[in-house]
Amino acid sequence: MRTAVSPLVLLQPRSLREALRMLREEGPLAPLAGCTDLYVGLNVGTLPGRRFLNIWGLDALRGIDVGGGVLRIGALTTYREIIRSADVRRRLPMLAAAAREIGAVQIQNRGTIGGNIANGSPAGDTLPVLAAADALVELRSVEWTRKVPFTEFYTGYRASVRRPDELVTAIEVPRVEGRQWFRKVGTRAAQSISKVVMAGVRAERPRVALGSVAPTVVRARRTEDALASGGTLVEAQRILQTEISPIDDIRSTAAYRREVAARLLAKFWADTR
Ligand SMILES: Cc1cc2nc3c(=O)[nH]c(=O)nc-3n(C[C@H](O)[C@H](O)[C@H](O)COP(=O)(O)OP(=O)(O)OC[C@H]3O[C@@H](n4cnc5c(N)ncnc54)[C@H](O)[C@@H]3O)c2cc1C
Repeated sequence: MRTAVSPLVLLQPRSLREALRMLREEGPLAPLAGCTDLYVGLNVGTLPGRRFLNIWGLDALRGIDVGGGVLRIGALTTYREIIRSADVRRRLPMLAAAAREIGAVQIQNRGTIGGNIANGSPAGDTLPVLAAADALVELRSVEWTRKVPFTEFYTGYRASVRRPDELVTAIEVPRVEGRQWFRKVGTRAAQSISKVVMAGVRAERPRVALGSVAPTVVRARRTEDALASGGTLVEAQRILQTEISPIDDIRSTAAYRREVAARLLAKFWADTR
């Protein structure tokens, strides 16, 4: 590991309240959940921070339940728990589909949905699902709890409205009407970061969200308008290609991503007819 371990500080809160107090009074601290993203940064020596807050033991942040028509998923819920949840499979099957394609079994056992959200990679596979589902992100500090629409959570590349003294504590998803669809395009079936990832909901007012095609996850509102108004699929594909701003990088090219995004839209539309 390139990062020297001895100067690192790890705080071990015993409760959510204590964790929030530490964030407020002893920060800046990087919350450490499943550590599947953080460890990569430690390993390659690119993490700027040296002080961490271990939230893995905070059971208040675990669990999936349904109440008042809302599916609530605790931030520390792992992909394995999401895949196994009958509530998720029934109410948000596109999230179970995304979780099944994240990393492989090891990452699914350890990686958390809160970590995927807070990490904020535009390639995060749960993000298009949460954008298409009109989810809310619950943020807590010592003093308040607030809920932010997922589509307003990110402010730029890996930047969000989360304050340093807040934790992502849960995600809430209202009932989603319509047929759900998810597709990830990567280099291979497992251990592959998305080149393009898309989630869609086919309803009177269709919803379309994509990852890996812009600095943040994109909710393609103008494409949705085109589909809702009964325009042609070709027109919707053309609009989609203007709503995304993919780049060339180590995993793919902008041109390939544009082409794949348009094809995924066609596949979504055909599969959910
Ligand atoms: C081999 C490998 C394969 C992977 N494959 C995929 C993949 O296919 N798809 C994909 O999307 N990702 C993938 N990842 C990335 C990673 O597994 C996920 O992003 C995972 O969900 C991160 O969760 P975590 O609990 O491990 O987060 P951590 O590594 O613990 O934290 C990640 C970031 O979020 C912050 N954070 C964590 N929890 C909270 C919280 N509750 N509140 C505030 N901040 C918080 C941390 O401070 C850190 O900045 C892969 C990683 C590896 C190593």
